[in-house]
Amino acid sequence: MKFYKPYKKERLMCILCQHYCKIKEGQTGICGVNKNVGDKIECLVYGYPSSINVDPIEKKPLYHFLPGTKAFSFGTVGCNFHCPFCQNWTISQTREVDTSRYFSPELMVQMAIDNDCQSIAYTYNEPTIFYPYARDIALEAKKKGLKNVFVTNGFESSEVIDDMKGIMDAANVDLKSFDAKYYKKELGGDLEKILENLKHFVANKIWTEVTTLVIPTQNDSDEELSNIAGFIANELGTDVPWHITAFHPDYKTRDLPCTSIESLDRAYEIGKKHGLHYVYKGNVAQESPTLCPNCAEVVIERDYFRNTKNYLKGSHCPKCGTAIAGVFDEQ
Ligand code: SF4
Repeated sequence: MKFYKPYKKERLMCILCQHYCKIKEGQTGICGVNKNVGDKIECLVYGYPSSINVDPIEKKPLYHFLPGTKAFSFGTVGCNFHCPFCQNWTISQTREVDTSRYFSPELMVQMAIDNDCQSIAYTYNEPTIFYPYARDIALEAKKKGLKNVFVTNGFESSEVIDDMKGIMDAANVDLKSFDAKYYKKELGGDLEKILENLKHFVANKIWTEVTTLVIPTQNDSDEELSNIAGFIANELGTDVPWHITAFHPDYKTRDLPCTSIESLDRAYEIGKKHGLHYVYKGNVAQESPTLCPNCAEVVIERDYFRNTKNYLKGSHCPKCGTAIAGVFDEQ
């Protein structure tokens, strides 16, 4: 599968993300890791993860996807955004690839199996920029019965989201703001494209959860949070979980305070007011249970990513029998 095509005047167009960079020979696109090497675009981070960990799936965060299981998680270097508050900026904002050890797709899958993981998570930096590598790992993982989860800023090309159908099982997609100017200037993205992509993920039946990092003064007004919650409820569905997570000063954004519990509580109430069934406060030391949307029974307990207890009967509330949205182990 090729994720580039010829473009006029000896350029190639990368079709991995919505930047659709038109790249001259010898140059890389905006992400810094996809390079025109003459007859093709080479993904320079293919085979070279920058960090690998075994994480609880809850840490992605995915709360309605195989709860209590482990995700073999990795990222590379590079990113197609330049968010000033990036919490992984040491890998996302560098372009220096450590090529000292090659990790083939087969090796990555074997490591996941050896570590008792039920899924592979493409995460830490933006995985769209290394989709050719992620895709090969994901196809190998499928053969071995593992699931695949994509943790993304939502700026994929539509070609990539279509290709993910049947390959990626779940996605956590950031919706960082509802302000088009802020997305463009501060982050290097495009709000409209991200909203379209969110709908595309859901339409392609990839289990989708949405995350908003709530940043004091940047995106935490009632109006903006309300716009985000309203979009999720009206365009994606009230069963799509919304994670509202706390910011801490990092990278170039060190002059703002941490998100207060009061702000997260306010965001939570806004989400509930819009009819969202599942709203979760994250990055705070608090329990974050899943409640049955019908009878409010606790169906999954969590304690800051650990000690997940699942009371579901298959995928149903044990008390009233209501189906809980998500992907659950039916045993
Ligand atoms: S992945 Fe996106 S940013 Fe990187 S070269 Fe391709 S189109 Fe450009």
